[in-house]
Amino acid sequence: MKRKTTQRAAIEQVFQTENRPLTIDEVLHSGRALVESLNQATVYRNLKLLVASGQLRQVQHPVLGTLYEQAGKGHHHHFHCHGCNRVYELPGCALNEEEAAPAGFIVEDHEIYLSGICPTCATSPP
Ligand SMILES: [Zn+2]
Ligand SMILES: [Zn+2]
Repeated sequence: MKRKTTQRAAIEQVFQTENRPLTIDEVLHSGRALVESLNQATVYRNLKLLVASGQLRQVQHPVLGTLYEQAGKGHHHHFHCHGCNRVYELPGCALNEEEAAPAGFIVEDHEIYLSGICPTCATSPP
């Protein structure tokens, strides 16, 4: 049991350090620097537990598939960098829902996915 706690704590720390949505592979890669015993199965199991307990939530990204991010951040969108393949969290929302759809449509929700080049890649191309 002690081992599991350590793995879970490592995964929580990865999300706090990165502060952006992560793929399972990214969690595995960063988490292994903290706990060597992590593997894909243990990461997957712990991510499921953290989602069930409300600490993380799943994001379905159209390009990268399932991502995980810290829950409770409020409405926001994501930016996918074509250079480093990272997904960044964008603060707030620039969309005016009332103007986004023609008259007669009642907008209840929306998703926006931005992509391009992040500031790090723009200043130092890989
Ligand atoms: Zn980048
Ligand atoms: Zn929005």
